[in-house]
Amino acid sequence: MGHDGGMTDHKDDRRDELAANLAKVERRIADACAAAGRSREEVTLVVVTKTYPASDVRILSELGVRHVAENRDQEAAPKAAECADLPLTWHFVGQLQTNKVRSAVGYADVVQSVDRARLVTALSKEAVRAGREVGCLIQVALDAGERDRGERGGVAPEGVEELADLVARSEGLRLDGLMTVAPLTGEYAGRQRAAFERLMDLSTDLRRAHPAATMVSAGMSGDLEDAVAAGATHVRVGTAVLGVRPRLR
Ligand SMILES: *Cc1c(COP(=O)(O)O)cnc(C)c1O
Repeated sequence: MGHDGGMTDHKDDRRDELAANLAKVERRIADACAAAGRSREEVTLVVVTKTYPASDVRILSELGVRHVAENRDQEAAPKAAECADLPLTWHFVGQLQTNKVRSAVGYADVVQSVDRARLVTALSKEAVRAGREVGCLIQVALDAGERDRGERGGVAPEGVEELADLVARSEGLRLDGLMTVAPLTGEYAGRQRAAFERLMDLSTDLRRAHPAATMVSAGMSGDLEDAVAAGATHVRVGTAVLGVRPRLR
């Protein structure tokens, strides 16, 4: 490819690449739904766009993607601002420091990584200040000790109820459900299906007290089939749509 007109060529190439990857992921989700006897509409694809530019988000939007996710506020804030004209729902899926909450509340429709009371308090305060309602998922760490948080964030299963109750009574916040990342250590290491089934059990418990908290976010590029089989309502897919990231985060 020559450099003159390269912009257009590049963009067309990238568009073709993303379209092909999306079609593959779409097929995997559809097959997993069929295998589980679930309707395709029960599962929402959230494309994790971290490390990739706003131009990719724009292409994804043109290709019909409606949910995107980011894991670092420094990167997400300018990207979301550049894409403010697009009909997208923005999910925050990374560990969120309380000093980044004001910024995150400016663009995040859903924070999937709520894992401690201080974060709930900060989110509520900033949501009220911004006049926004922020959806919250409690991130569950299936590898955490009873009173700990997980290596990659998340609250131990024993702490879900208390945190969920706090979200539910916090102004400006909406309790939407649960999220997990398949653990790399502990009893669920290498057992994604079992991990996601455990998350579903926790969701069943949660919905007894909070019937509207129906979201179950689980599954990434490598294990989305396990998540769909277990009953996930949202899968978070990065690599399989956008390509291998330059650095693991
Ligand atoms: C990066 C990330 C994903 C996507 O992972 P892939 O393996 O690239 O699909 C999903 N969830 C969270 C929380 C992430 O940080």
